[in-house]
Order: sequence, then structure tokens, then C-alpha cells
Amino acid sequence: MDKIREIVKQTFLNLDKKQTLPTPRAYKQEFCSVAKTLNFTVDECVKFKEIINKLSNNEQSFVKKHNIETFEELIQLLMQRVETNQLNNVALLLQKSMKPSISLTLNEDLHRFSVKIGNSPELIFENDIQHEIEKFIIERIEMDQEELEKKAKEITILMTYMTKFLGDTIELNSKGGDNISQITKELESITSEDGLLVLQGKLLGAANNINSQIEKTTRNLKRGKDGVTALQKKVALLEIELHSLRKENEIDHLTGLLTRRWYDRQSKRLDEDFVKKEIDYAVVFFDIDHFKKVNDTYGHDAGDVVLSTFAKVLMKSTRDTDILGRYGGEEFIALVHFRNNSELHDYMQRIKSIVTGHMFKYGDTKIPITFSAGVALRSGHQTHEDSVKKADELLYKAKQSGRNKVIFEDGKEF
Ligand code: GH3
Ligand code: MG
Ligand code: MG
Repeated sequence: MDKIREIVKQTFLNLDKKQTLPTPRAYKQEFCSVAKTLNFTVDECVKFKEIINKLSNNEQSFVKKHNIETFEELIQLLMQRVETNQLNNVALLLQKSMKPSISLTLNEDLHRFSVKIGNSPELIFENDIQHEIEKFIIERIEMDQEELEKKAKEITILMTYMTKFLGDTIELNSKGGDNISQITKELESITSEDGLLVLQGKLLGAANNINSQIEKTTRNLKRGKDGVTALQKKVALLEIELHSLRKENEIDHLTGLLTRRWYDRQSKRLDEDFVKKEIDYAVVFFDIDHFKKVNDTYGHDAGDVVLSTFAKVLMKSTRDTDILGRYGGEEFIALVHFRNNSELHDYMQRIKSIVTGHMFKYGDTKIPITFSAGVALRSGHQTHEDSVKKADELLYKAKQSGRNKVIFEDGKEF
């Protein structure tokens, strides 16, 4: 009690000294600061800080920026928070947008993820979750594109059958027409008695009628066939467009290697072979040394040429059954099969000799390039991701130890 009195007294004295009126705000601020200097814990002062600490980073910086010190001021800020109901609605919309709309494939991962954000919608504010949402949406678009392409192919096949069917029918019809013409001729050549003349006339009329019907049908069928052929061309064009659209997502336009996203997908397929059939592979991380300097010295365009040339060297040295991807700006990843360690060493040595033994050309300018790499074996790790992590660590080590270096998981380096 005495302590409180002392704080109160000191608070008023301080405010007086500062010539500040003891409004509730000024009084509380001074009171808490005096209490702190006297090492006395006051619930109201501590509680406010505790609540501030529980706010999001953005809210905390808002509190700091606007000098919020009272609960009344804090309420204003908290009123801007999103209501749980609204959040539920957004989570529901997100779930819908991630689901493939054309393709009916809904993989288990997506289902699990949907249930997760359905149960705790507030998760959508977390960075990791937002990345995952982005990944699912992109995947959904790709799945839909794939499905469309498949359907376009099916339509083309169907149309080919249809054109053939129409062609056959047209041929049959014109043959029918020939037969009728023959009958007409024969009817005309009969010279008969008067009694039969009427009947002959009627038969001729009927034959001519049938003939013109056949001609009409043949014309219609031909028109139909032309229509189908035109449609067939349109569908084939659509199929090509869809295919190139998908290729754009798969292939990095500068280097011609797989994009990061497509690499992720392909690597899953390769890893299944390891899990099922124990076909081991190496994960290699390449990173061009001091690439920033290349850009700074020779210009960004020269940098681009170096990147595409480097990718060409990798492509030339790597088998089609292996995987090459552009992992980031000047970072590449390769998943390569090998029979024994020495084959793997040779593979890396070959690439190193080509890169360091030649100058990269940009017009007349010659640019020396070196790279560092880390090589890990899939069989040495629990998961594909673990082996990628290891290769990345070895690359980092190669950079630390002076660059222009390849470090293998078994300790070998050159
Ligand atoms: P280190 O030896 O440590 O790898 O150094 P570094 O300079 O190679 O690495 P850093 O990560 O500092 O810089 C990479 C540079 O690559 C920065 C970025 O501007 C450049 N870069 C990324 N993508 C491209 C691209 O597509 N074209 C060009 N020309 N430059 C790119
Ligand atoms: Mg680099
Ligand atoms: Mg890098």
C-alpha cells in the first residue's frame, strides 16, 4: 500500500515537472513507468503489455507506430480484425477454387489440406499455408489443362471416325444412284402394250424421285462431311494450343530445362522408382560462381546467354532418362542415375572440364565461368527431400571452401 502511495505521489510530481495535465492517459503512462523504475509490478500495466505481445506482427508495429497505450485505443485496432464468420466463408471459397474443375482428379493431399483449413480457417493467414494454397491452385490449373488436352484428343479421334463414316455413306449413296439410273434406262427401253405404258410411266416417275432424293441426301452428307473436316482442323489447332500452353509451364524459356514446379513433379516419378525398385540416383546441385559479377561486368543479357549455355552443357552431358531442372536464378538441379561411384565422378568431372576448360561466348566477348556443386545419393537418405537438402549443404560447403569445387557425399572432392 505504501509503495502504491509512493508511486502515486511520484507520478503526480513527475507530471507536474513535465507540465503535463494528469489526464487518465498521461496518468496511467506515468504511473506504469514509475512503477517499473521502482520495480513494482502492477497488474494493469503488465496485462496491457501481455495482450500487445499476443497480437500479430503487423498489429504490434501498428501499436508502436501510433503510440497506442490504452485499452480504449486498442479496441479501435481490434475492431478491424476479421470476424470468424467471414474467415469461414473465405476458407470455403479457397477450398472450392483449389478443386480441379474439369479434371475429376482430387488427390489425397488436397483433400487432407482442404479438411485442415476447413477445420481451422485462421490457418490461411500463415505463410506456409498460403504457399501450399498457391501450389494447389497452380496444380489444379495444370490438371484441368491436362484433362482438356486429353478430351481434345478424344474428340479428334471421334471426328476421324465420323469423317470416315460419312465418306463411306456418300460412296454407298452414289452407288445407289448409279443402280437407279440403270433401272430407269432399262424401263425406258421396254416397248410394251398400252396397258402397261401407264405402269411403266409410274415406275419411271418413282425411280426418278428416288434418284433425286439420293442426290439430295448425298449433297447433304457432303456438306456435313466438309463441316466435320473443318471442325476437325479447329480441334487439332486447339489441341496444339493447349499442348504448348502446358509446355510453357513445364519448360523454362531461357534455358530449356524443366521449371522448378515441373521438376518437383517429375522428381516424384523418379523417386517412386527408387522406392519400388531401389533404382538409386544422385541429386546434384549446381550453382554458378560469382554470377552477380558476370551480370555486373558484362551486362544482364550476357548473363542470360551464360545461363542458357551452361544449361546446354548440362543437357549434353546428361541422359534423357535423367532429370534436369532450373532450380532458381543461376542454380540448377540434376537427378542422375549411375552404375557406380566412379561413373558419377566421371559425369561431374566431364561437366567441370567443359565449363572450366572453355570460355563462354557472348558475341565477341569471352567470359570465364566456374561453378560449385554438391552431390548426394538418394540411397543415403530417408526421403528425396533429405537428399536434396544434403546436396544443398554440400554445395554450400563447396562455396565456403573457395568455389570452383564439386563435393560428393562420400567425401571426395575436386
Ligand atoms: P555465389 O558464388 O555465392 O553463388 O555468388 P553469386 O553472385 O553467383 O550468387 P548470388 O545469389 O549473390 O547472385 C545470383 C545472381 O543471379 C543475382 C541475380 O541477379 C542473377 N540472376 C538470377 N536470375 C537471372 C537471370 O535469369 N538472368 C540473369 N542475367 N541473371 C540472373
Ligand atoms: Mg551463384
Ligand atoms: Mg545462387
